[in-house]
Amino acid sequence: MFDGSTRPEVSCYRGTAMTQVKLTAPMAAVATPELVSRVEQALALFPELSDERVTVGVTASRGVDGLAYPSERLIRLNPYRRRMVTYFTIGHELTHLVQTPGLGLIPSGEVQCDIWTLARDPLFLDEKPCYLDIDCDGRSWRRHAGAVRKLCLNAIAVRERNRRYIVWLREQLAAYFNRPEPYQPGLFDDSRLTTAQQALE
Ligand SMILES: [Zn+2]
Repeated sequence: MFDGSTRPEVSCYRGTAMTQVKLTAPMAAVATPELVSRVEQALALFPELSDERVTVGVTASRGVDGLAYPSERLIRLNPYRRRMVTYFTIGHELTHLVQTPGLGLIPSGEVQCDIWTLARDPLFLDEKPCYLDIDCDGRSWRRHAGAVRKLCLNAIAVRERNRRYIVWLREQLAAYFNRPEPYQPGLFDDSRLTTAQQALE
């Protein structure tokens, strides 16, 4: 999520300084070592952001996983949700810092943010994206994540010559999810046993 408003909260940024990451005081107070490690791993995949520090704060807004304030190089994560903050959420918010009014290196927008986050690294495939329409539930996402990431990479390549690359991607995703399920032989499928036996003979 991107909140374009500027927030004059500089006085509370007294958090622990780390290599190119600064936790706000409220985040430093609640962040687990696992969360800090996730932020550092995610940030290591954003070389564009390495020249200047990124600040990580807290949001406790209900239903919000994260927020980004690109002009302040600030992201806020929600450590109070039931599940651990995902790499995807961290990656999505960091990707906003690469968009306008941050570095402005990639197209702006939420769907675009999802596409570039998934494309960046398989680390960010641990949660289904929220703005790019994906025709599967959260549980089956992992089965499709690799294929969806490949389509996102292709869409970014398609953008070089086709400004309607998101339309292209949506068509590709629809084709992918509408394809017939590959045949999966059952455990007691005789023909499969026979084939297996033949293969042994
Ligand atoms: Zn967003």
